[in-house]
Amino acid sequence: MNRRDLIRLFGAMLLGYAGGGHGDNGNANLAPRSRKRIVVIGAGLAGLAAAQALKKQGHEVLVVEARDRIGGRIWSSGQWPDMPLDLGASWIHGVKGNPLTLIAETIQANRLATHYGKAVTYNTQGQALSQSEENRLDNLRTRIAQALTRAQKQDNDVSIQQAIAPLLAEFAASAEETRFIQFLLNGEIEQEYSGSAAKLSAHWYDNGKEFGGDDALFAHGFGLVTAFLAEGLDIGLGQLVHEIQWDSSSVRVMTQKSVFLADHVVVTLPLGVLQAGNVRFSPALPPEQQQAIAKLGMGVLNKCYLRFQEAFWPDDVDWLEYIPATPGAWTEWVSFMRVANMPILLGFNAADRGREIEQWPDQQIVASAMQTLKTLFGSHIPEPIGYQLTRWAADPFALGSYSYNAVGSTPQMRKALAKPLGKRLFFAGEACHADYFGTAHGAYLSGLQAAEAILAA
Ligand SMILES: Cc1cc2nc3c(=O)[nH]c(=O)nc-3n(C[C@H](O)[C@H](O)[C@H](O)COP(=O)(O)OP(=O)(O)OC[C@H]3O[C@@H](n4cnc5c(N)ncnc54)[C@H](O)[C@@H]3O)c2cc1C
Repeated sequence: MNRRDLIRLFGAMLLGYAGGGHGDNGNANLAPRSRKRIVVIGAGLAGLAAAQALKKQGHEVLVVEARDRIGGRIWSSGQWPDMPLDLGASWIHGVKGNPLTLIAETIQANRLATHYGKAVTYNTQGQALSQSEENRLDNLRTRIAQALTRAQKQDNDVSIQQAIAPLLAEFAASAEETRFIQFLLNGEIEQEYSGSAAKLSAHWYDNGKEFGGDDALFAHGFGLVTAFLAEGLDIGLGQLVHEIQWDSSSVRVMTQKSVFLADHVVVTLPLGVLQAGNVRFSPALPPEQQQAIAKLGMGVLNKCYLRFQEAFWPDDVDWLEYIPATPGAWTEWVSFMRVANMPILLGFNAADRGREIEQWPDQQIVASAMQTLKTLFGSHIPEPIGYQLTRWAADPFALGSYSYNAVGSTPQMRKALAKPLGKRLFFAGEACHADYFGTAHGAYLSGLQAAEAILAA
């Protein structure tokens, strides 16, 4: 089949498309001249949200997706049928006013709230922190916050690591305080923002906004949300986009199988994919956008789920925290006992440590996790009966977990990244959202913003 046949085929497919899903098809009676052909690249939250909003207005929408599944960085594993587990995003962060709460309520998805207050922190030897250790940790937390506030008042931006360097210099490398500081940097900053303290901008690392309320997990997986958003959409799976040709009159999207012609295209490629340059833009993206792609950071957060026959850890807490000798190694764990009565632990590795362990074979990662658990709960604890691991940095269609503000980037760059080009190319995805970058709700809202921009165009 030649290129022209493919374009014709796509046109016929779209024209024959009768809509469906989500009941209301909005302006399905849009005058034919107003009806646009729109291709959305990527079937993650941003792409699905944009596609659904545009379809509701009566436009002809096709979603093209490289993977053989929808969801992108929302990926609920069914490997353990009695407990679907999220390998990508797990939580609605801040359920109050969060648009994903509305969707969860619409689909009546069962949610489980976890609480940071229900936590126990263990020292390097595996003992729960004493009151005096807790006090020293609190004191260092305050001093880190003060150092970062001072850095934010300087004209020149530095990394978080640089901002904390004078504090670290007060203690010997082997001192307990040094381990406490590394623990706080990793557990409270790197795990949240996914970037390394050596790269995170002291000026901007935390300039996003947050919704209030609890953090809630989906009892049956976050994938319920993407499945709902995908209802009734035309989605071409296994369509790996390698080139996007755009000019003032139309856009061509080239995949390894097909060429799609569209009036508008919504690009929701993850920042990591844009940085790798695996998708060619012709003509090239403007310098402002290229600079944003180069300067913003793409971080890593990896998960390791371990399933046991029964729990050997405290079953009344959600979070187990460990102050390791090796910075960043297994500092944060979530227990599924209290919220779901399942003997499952989820260990995280973020930033540099997250990248490093991806290179290891599965058995080495599990053995390393078990070594930490043995330090906490004794060498007699049973081996896991199952495990599930992620390697987000190596995932070719994500090349990282989520974006962060690196030294050298500015908040303005997210706006530059999301700026439409010639009323033809529109951009969405978590990295494009100025306020809620790095999150599932940020991705969703960015998709809606791109759809609105197309409707306005
Ligand atoms: C381990 C982890 C934990 C997280 N935890 C949370 C959390 O608890 N709460 C929270 O709010 N957020 C969390 N996040 C962030 C959240 O998952 C993301 O911000 C959000 O899912 C991103 O959605 P998106 O649509 O922007 O991108 P994606 O979901 O990545 O969608 C982009 C799509 O484009 C496709 N694609 C890539 N390249 C091509 C190509 N060349 N051709 C065609 N298609 C292509 C991809 O396959 C993908 O489906 C987490 C992320 C990870 C990885």
